[in-house]
Amino acid sequence: MDTKEFRQRGREMVDYIAEYMESVGERRVTPDVEPGYLRDLIPSKAPYEGEGWPEIMADVETKIMPGVTHWQHPRFHAYFPSGNSFPSILGDMLSDGIGAIGFSWAASPACTELETIVLDWLGQMIGLPSDFLSFPENSIGGGVMQASASECVLVCLLAARAQKIKELKALHPFVEDGVLLSKLVAYCSKEAHSCVEKAAMIAFTKLRILDPDADLSLRGATLAQAIEEDKAMGLVPFFVSATLGTTSCVSFDNLAEIGPIAEEAGTWLHVDGAYAGNAMICPEFKYLMKGIEHAMSFNCNPNKWLLTNFDCSTMWVRDRFKLTQALVVDPLYLQHSHSGKSIDYRHWGIPLSRRFRALKLWFVIRNYGVAGLQNYIREHCRLAKCFEALVREDDRFEVCNIVRMGLVCFRLKGNDNNDLNKKLLSNINESGKLHMVPAAVHGKFVIRFCVCAQDAKDSDIEYAWDVITEYATELLEAEIVKEKSGLPLDVLEHSNEEVGQVAHKVEISELMDLMERVHMPIQKQNSIASIGRQGSLASVGRQQSLAIIGRQQSLASIGRQQSLAYIGEVGNNLSEGGEQETANKPRQRPSLAKRLSKRQFSFTDTIEFVGMVNTAQDESMNP
Ligand SMILES: *Cc1c(COP(=O)(O)O)cnc(C)c1O
Repeated sequence: MDTKEFRQRGREMVDYIAEYMESVGERRVTPDVEPGYLRDLIPSKAPYEGEGWPEIMADVETKIMPGVTHWQHPRFHAYFPSGNSFPSILGDMLSDGIGAIGFSWAASPACTELETIVLDWLGQMIGLPSDFLSFPENSIGGGVMQASASECVLVCLLAARAQKIKELKALHPFVEDGVLLSKLVAYCSKEAHSCVEKAAMIAFTKLRILDPDADLSLRGATLAQAIEEDKAMGLVPFFVSATLGTTSCVSFDNLAEIGPIAEEAGTWLHVDGAYAGNAMICPEFKYLMKGIEHAMSFNCNPNKWLLTNFDCSTMWVRDRFKLTQALVVDPLYLQHSHSGKSIDYRHWGIPLSRRFRALKLWFVIRNYGVAGLQNYIREHCRLAKCFEALVREDDRFEVCNIVRMGLVCFRLKGNDNNDLNKKLLSNINESGKLHMVPAAVHGKFVIRFCVCAQDAKDSDIEYAWDVITEYATELLEAEIVKEKSGLPLDVLEHSNEEVGQVAHKVEISELMDLMERVHMPIQKQNSIASIGRQGSLASVGRQQSLAIIGRQQSLASIGRQQSLAYIGEVGNNLSEGGEQETANKPRQRPSLAKRLSKRQFSFTDTIEFVGMVNTAQDESMNP
């Protein structure tokens, strides 16, 4: 590709991206593919001769997009937002174009200097104490960009480990490092991100996972007690990781209590604000950061909630020398004459090579301004509150977290309702209408609803709630059906083969009773189908059948596709002379269908059934 073609393809790509972002809402939010789907679509060997751009791009729409989960979709409410905005995309584009690798100041001075400056900007916006910034007089603190929060936690834990071993070494000069290491213990809450556990595992240190309080906040007293117990056993506390905005439910550890205790105990306190840390740019949330003055390090991910594309995890330390001491190795070929007065970010993290990531964050902050970014955060918080209000208005549901940021955890009420909530979530996710993920809160299965889309609107929240309540209603109705009919739901759901073995007869009286219990307007609409919502009596013959009772659950699951067939068959018998015969002929596994029709519904029952609901209209169905 030459420059001339690049100009053309580049413009086309920008158009493609703009078009994608504008119309992403028309796609299914999650892909409907099975593992390995792409293997069948893409050759197993790389092309020997280069291919033309149009052929390559054509494959994007036909092969790649069908397997993409659309994180920028207005119906995407899973995990946390994946930061994205036009200025950020342009920043990364420019960074790629420059293609510099800024591991040291000398390797590309602007790369390092812009990073330092932008981190100071953001640090001030968040309200970090001035020790965390690079530019105040005599400061030994500063900020750096890492690829992920997991990396931030790891390097801070490594720095804390190095510091503590150094301190112990001074006290016990003849004791092996390995022996000293075996005494170290770190702390975090049960609600901390799994990356803390991973970091401790990599660092080969003990980690004590503490219980948070009823609001899922780690409290000072719990930490103090653990530290005291461990010290009494001869262990050496060296690291505490507190979370502002936990991943499962965005709860906040009590930093004001933890801070002084961690500091007093001589540990390195790290504060992980991967998601909610970004919200600290709004003054109204800064109270949650009280106690930060006791921390040694802090991180948040603008690539989660500050409109900046992955990767962009920002981290600040109070003492950069304590960080770099754990990570410096300095071979001759990387040394340069300015190292005394400049920052070499290769000593601040694990990789040597670094992208020019500061550009995108700089573009975002300048283009939105602090006010624009605050509005973005506040809007997400407002919408989460709207969603929370909708959940609270419906007594079938409960809210399971304190909603402060953009996340609402909720569930169908009831103590033993984990399976029901799982089913609700999987039904919704399977539909491709919304995407959410679960979490365990107080040992209960909850559904996480996160406001994610860049320009999320009230109507998106209302739509989401409509979908959720629609599926919940169906599921709850199906539960009644299940209870009433006594059909072994699990067996029915698993496979059509198994269904064939279920010998159960549904009495018509039971079905009628059940229709009453689910309050369906049988008389008015004159349709069986209204038990579940769609279709009509005709559909007993044609498409929908009894399956409609609760759509996917309950009777519907009598052989999903097969239900069509067997009801169809029954319908045929009934509607002799009617119009639907051919359509009703079972297409798949006819023998099973036949078997089902005999086993599940007796002929007379069905006649009576159809007859009853059919009296007013559909003549063709009357025998
Ligand atoms: C998302 C998250 C992480 C992990 O972030 P990565 O950047 O993917 O490593 C860590 N901590 C918290 C609180 C998170 O929400």
